Amino acid sequence: MVYFKDLSLLEKIIMNPNQPKPKVVFVANCLLNQYMRARGVKNTYKKGERVPGIVEPLMDLLEKYNVAVEQMPCIEVYYEGLVRTACGQNRYNKEDFKRLCEKYAGEIVYLIGQYEKAGYDVRCIIGMDGSPTCGVDLTALGGGKWARDRGIFMKILEERLKKNGYNIPMIGARLKSNTEINRFLRDVEQYLR
Ligand code: SF4
Repeated sequence: MVYFKDLSLLEKIIMNPNQPKPKVVFVANCLLNQYMRARGVKNTYKKGERVPGIVEPLMDLLEKYNVAVEQMPCIEVYYEGLVRTACGQNRYNKEDFKRLCEKYAGEIVYLIGQYEKAGYDVRCIIGMDGSPTCGVDLTALGGGKWARDRGIFMKILEERLKKNGYNIPMIGARLKSNTEINRFLRDVEQYLR
């Protein structure tokens, strides 16, 4: 899914190549749809007692900088469905899961190539810290163990990007508290200016 807030900017760029390039970020699926998360995941954005479908503060920030959003597929849902329990890499460290990751990583790299060719600026890729699949700086290994490492999908995606000559920053969302959210938003903001 792609969402552009200001289509007139696109028209200006097509008409005038000296205009700044329109910006795009790629985000983990559950940042735009928190209902994709596994049952029991703690890294969820809450507003009081409510769990909003969208991580609103991130979307507000992207809107402030007029950035389009490309939603990456949720590999876990394609692998085992929407109803599943939170777990670690020990459940997904399997050939069929990695094949799925390869397939979707290939599609994302293709899309990034299309954006670059068409004159857009892909600013960053936002994953979900803690996830065995989409973690960037933190991933669950299973059995209560964690590693300061990429999740399975993010690792495969990063390798594919490098192979194709792309060096796009990756940031992991952290949503458990307001302090974490604010730090995460500051990290993202540096790539949007
Ligand atoms: S696999 Fe990725 S997109 Fe899907 S719920 Fe987990 S962190 Fe979100």
